[in-house]
Amino acid sequence: MARARDPIADLRRIAFLLERANEATYRVRAFRSAAKALAGLPAAELTERAGNGTLTELAGVGDVTARCVAESLAGEEPVYLRRLVATEGSDLDAEATALRAALRGDCHTHSDWSDGGSPIEEMALAAVELGHEYLVLTDHSPRLTVARGLTAERLRRQLDHVAQVNAALPEGFRILTGIEVDILADGSLDQDEDLLARLDVVVGSVHSGLKDERSKMTRRMLKAVANPHLDILGHVTGRMVSSRPAGVTGPGDRGHRARTRAESDFDADAVFAACAEHDTAVEINSRPERQDPPKRLIRRALEAGCRFAIDTDAHAPGQLDWQRFGCERAALCGVPADRVVNTWSAEQLVAWTHDRT
Ligand SMILES: [Zn+2]
Ligand SMILES: [Zn+2]
Repeated sequence: MARARDPIADLRRIAFLLERANEATYRVRAFRSAAKALAGLPAAELTERAGNGTLTELAGVGDVTARCVAESLAGEEPVYLRRLVATEGSDLDAEATALRAALRGDCHTHSDWSDGGSPIEEMALAAVELGHEYLVLTDHSPRLTVARGLTAERLRRQLDHVAQVNAALPEGFRILTGIEVDILADGSLDQDEDLLARLDVVVGSVHSGLKDERSKMTRRMLKAVANPHLDILGHVTGRMVSSRPAGVTGPGDRGHRARTRAESDFDADAVFAACAEHDTAVEINSRPERQDPPKRLIRRALEAGCRFAIDTDAHAPGQLDWQRFGCERAALCGVPADRVVNTWSAEQLVAWTHDRT
């Protein structure tokens, strides 16, 4: 009998929706691990095990995931999936929806090469499913050791790996190479010059000394923004907010520590003026706990004439769908699509970054 549904696809879909809802990692992992364990199983054995209740004998498969598989194989949408779909995020308003529809890629994402939770291939496949034309892979730089930042040597290896992965991906989609490079205390960038020049997109962010005194932080950011290798200034203020933006209907904060951090102190008008002068884009970071920059600063960057990148800073496939939150905030501030660099095609984007270097 032909199978009505693909149980592996259902498990992956559930994991994606859990990530998007910002659910605890262990819960997501249960579904991703089960999908991985079952993907290698012959179809006949899968059906047999689902029938006689022995799926849970397999490593990585628990009661809940086994039940989902059995339901899928019976041709039904798993109850767990149905519930998740029913409680998905609310609708965006028209302007935010139009802006989201105009985005063709994401310029800030992480894989398990640094502190992300999934392999590059998984991130890319999720981006394909979202309808993106490209995904810029921006793992961390060496000094961010807590996030397993990539040394020059590991980054070189990653570039080779990305070339291989790209060759196997569907036509019309590609992974662009990149980095989220640390902006060091003196404003220099934490990676070799030749590598920065070679990458498609360079996002630069401050991750240390966030409480630097105003003039020092301003100098530091001005120097980074003026660096021709820097294309996008990441999560500008470094703030962490504990609240969720409207539209996130995740099943609560279990497994998440409430963590807040004040904005860094710097002369925003000077920094945005420099971004406009050097044509460095200001990131609108979509992560629910960041919402960075705050709306008042998005408006000031807009008035200063800056370009923007609306990015997810995703550390897992489901988080790639968080762009809608950034779009909501951008739309509220009146950011037009033609100021957003990731409304461009991959070719236009790369032409822009290379022009600047
Ligand atoms: Zn960062
Ligand atoms: Zn990041």
